[in-house]
Amino acid sequence: MSSPIITEANYLEFGDIIKEFIRNNELKEAEDYLLRIIDLIERITIKKGIGISPGFYLELAKLYKKQGSKEKEINILHRFLVQPKAGGEQSKKILERYAKLIDSTDMESLKESFYNEYLEKIRLTKLLTKYIECPNCQKKILMIIPSKKVQLFRGSCPRCYENNLFIVE
Ligand SMILES: [Zn+2]
Repeated sequence: MSSPIITEANYLEFGDIIKEFIRNNELKEAEDYLLRIIDLIERITIKKGIGISPGFYLELAKLYKKQGSKEKEINILHRFLVQPKAGGEQSKKILERYAKLIDSTDMESLKESFYNEYLEKIRLTKLLTKYIECPNCQKKILMIIPSKKVQLFRGSCPRCYENNLFIVE
């Protein structure tokens, strides 16, 4: 099969194809597709000023786990954890899974170091950003704002990982 072009308009359709690859134990193909989709969603979602959902990262982490590639599993979870993250309960669970994999109980240091990586990442973009107080941890955090008109949006706090409704003042 020739490699199809994965775009913003069609990438969600590849979920079933990837599952099919995994069922047939064509893991290299599944990995290639997942990595291409992850590259794409990082470009498009960040450009739109919205957080990233972890679905495809988790699929890839599952694949690496199945292969016994612990280091790759850690790396893909890490890659997700430093992105601007969509709302939901997953972010926190992924952080916990990551900590367990690297045998760390020092959640505060992990959160701090991921937040610093996140900051570096979003400072490189030319998007609208703003310091917003997290309703949960009450820290002032730098976030990408979807647009000037948006007054509130849902996301996961990049410092405490809680799902929140953030109010843009
Ligand atoms: Zn917070």
